Amino acid sequence: MVEPMKKVNYIVVLLLGIGFAGAAQEQGWQGKFEQLDQLLPTPNSYRSASGAPGVAYWQQRADYVIDVELNDENQLVTGSETITYYNNSPETLSYLWLQLDQNILQRDGIKDKTTPSSVMDSIPTRYFAGFVGGFDYEGGYKIKSVKDAATGKDLPILINFTMMRVDLPAPLKTGEKYSFKVDWSYTEYDRMKFDERGGYEFFPEDGNYLYTLAQWYPRMCVFDDYEGWQNKQFLGNGEFTLTFGDFKVRITVPSDHIVGATGWLQNPKEVLTKQQLERFESAKKTFDKPVLIVTQEEATKKEKDRSKKKSTWVFHAENVRDFAWVSSRKFIWDAMAVKVGDKTPLAQSLYPKEGNPLWEKESTKAIRNTLEVYSSRTFDYPYPTAYSIHTASIGMEYPMICFNFGRPKKDGTYSQRTLEGMVGVIVHEVGHNFFPMIVNSDERQWTWMDEGLNTFLERETTRTRYPDFDVTSGSPKGIASFMRGEKEQMRPIMASSDNQGKSFGPNGYTKPSAALTLLRETIMGPELFDKAFKEYAQRWAFKQPKPADFFRTMEDASATDLDWFWRGWFYSTDNVDTEVDEVKWYRVRSTIADPEKKNVKVKAGEVIGGDGSKANDFSAGPQEFTVTDFNNGKETFRNAEFRSIIDDKAIRGKLEGKNIYEITLKNKGGLISPVIIEWTYKDGSKEIERLPAEIWRLNEKEVKKVFMKEKEVVTIVIDPGQETADVNSSNNSFPKRPQANKFDQLRKN
Ligand SMILES: [Zn+2]
Repeated sequence: MVEPMKKVNYIVVLLLGIGFAGAAQEQGWQGKFEQLDQLLPTPNSYRSASGAPGVAYWQQRADYVIDVELNDENQLVTGSETITYYNNSPETLSYLWLQLDQNILQRDGIKDKTTPSSVMDSIPTRYFAGFVGGFDYEGGYKIKSVKDAATGKDLPILINFTMMRVDLPAPLKTGEKYSFKVDWSYTEYDRMKFDERGGYEFFPEDGNYLYTLAQWYPRMCVFDDYEGWQNKQFLGNGEFTLTFGDFKVRITVPSDHIVGATGWLQNPKEVLTKQQLERFESAKKTFDKPVLIVTQEEATKKEKDRSKKKSTWVFHAENVRDFAWVSSRKFIWDAMAVKVGDKTPLAQSLYPKEGNPLWEKESTKAIRNTLEVYSSRTFDYPYPTAYSIHTASIGMEYPMICFNFGRPKKDGTYSQRTLEGMVGVIVHEVGHNFFPMIVNSDERQWTWMDEGLNTFLERETTRTRYPDFDVTSGSPKGIASFMRGEKEQMRPIMASSDNQGKSFGPNGYTKPSAALTLLRETIMGPELFDKAFKEYAQRWAFKQPKPADFFRTMEDASATDLDWFWRGWFYSTDNVDTEVDEVKWYRVRSTIADPEKKNVKVKAGEVIGGDGSKANDFSAGPQEFTVTDFNNGKETFRNAEFRSIIDDKAIRGKLEGKNIYEITLKNKGGLISPVIIEWTYKDGSKEIERLPAEIWRLNEKEVKKVFMKEKEVVTIVIDPGQETADVNSSNNSFPKRPQANKFDQLRKN
């Protein structure tokens, strides 16, 4: 039988005896600890409430067979592809959508039309050239034909800027597949002129090109359980949302070029010299250092020749969501094998001599570090290879291959900053193999799902493998300056990628990384966090997760309710600003004079200023207060039955002579945060105490908490290690730091 009365009494005892709590302050409630409820989609059979793929989870699939030729004279790319599309959805499809990403550089394209611009007093030429057609480049796809693969009949198409609808000759039912053929061409662009992800770099000194081909073929859009056909145009910031499949790609280039691509080279005997082939074979068995397959001397020698012959490099890739490739006669090539679990992927780097001596020393090593650390936090890297390609000024990722900046000066010297930037971008872009190439999130909608998770693991890799590098970026300390900005000007992390404006960088990359770092180091602890994070990665490897799947899995796998954390960090622009409003120091009065004076705080010295102001330091000494007997010597209906368990004398004895501190904290920034308190004692020793964020659950604006200490405290500092992204450390200490006036501050600067 339930006895509610007893329970109520017991709670009263706890509050009085341990908490010293005053009346709860109800006005501090803003619902910040409530569940996300309608902010998340309702779980269903496709996506479960645990955050795992549901029992009826499905995803589409598209296989590609592509022939492509690159003309080194006029930069024309000519391709022909057969796409086989598998309808695994429960719906019947009467049309398909493809992405025509090259159309972002079309004259009068949607990016041009929707990018605001304005005239200022002085504007670089490149600004106008980019926006109002100052370059003579004719961008965009020329779609030559779209045909049924079996009958050869033309299919009706409709192009909507960066997307193309293909009407099917007959409805495609559940479980059926359909093959069709697309022929196209476009002229590759100069990446040094346009802020795009593929393109080429021309080297005027030797007259050669380095091509990086990306978004170079019409690709299937995603059709899924979440929004049907993906329908967000390619505007530049929001990247890609893609379907898995197998690729067989034949790449024809001048025969003195070296090609790297998504996938494994199928015909090394046809395209490599005997010597290159021997070195390639030896690299596959070498784990301790990179093996040069094409040396700098050999590559430099080739720069003067122009082969009229062509070679066709054949690459196959299984279960990838995209395919990119690179080609140049300038490439130096090194490779080495990496051990992850029972797999031995080949780490490969391609770079022109302009990247050396930095690249031969660092690139392949950075690939190895990335594959090892990321695999330990997620799943063993499943692909047979990972390339790092040197390209000026960008970092960009594709399955098994990525483009990375970091170029020494002409004399071969480089700064620590260049080194850290170069290693950082390689770790980051190789890391993208895990997010979003394998854990295949929708980049067009949510940048943070791949960039944020990836920036977090990039930082973890740098922190553990390059201990002398600066890892402030992506940490809570690093994000504080951004979060200190005007909240009204910001967007939350969850805002759509192309609507982020100036918040794009922090919200896509460093703020989610800082949030995850805070979650790992401070809120959950590494053991719980790593287990839950790995669970998410393994549940959604080779699948298409959405934000709720991440949020739910992190909670489900760790038994930690984090709704307050996602609400504050991902759905709001609040910041952490914890203020130490007041600290009171007490000692227990040794004898109880008057039982009527129960729990009255008696002044011993002027702690509170005569004008009612709060104490700024401990100089006034402790106040005294009385601890009375539990029942005050009276038998009452409410406490009578507890007499036997409360030993008034013993409890009073434990408090005798102790320093008791009551701290009042204020949440000035709105964002709920754990509280880390550093106590410094009179003898110089220190102690760190950690209070979980739930300390704020009864009042989200102000909280009091009482602590008992043997030793006398001289200073109290909140968040001494800057681990909570507190935007204002000047109100974190007691005794309160004297506020420097504006004039003094200016003089210091
Ligand atoms: Zn990235």
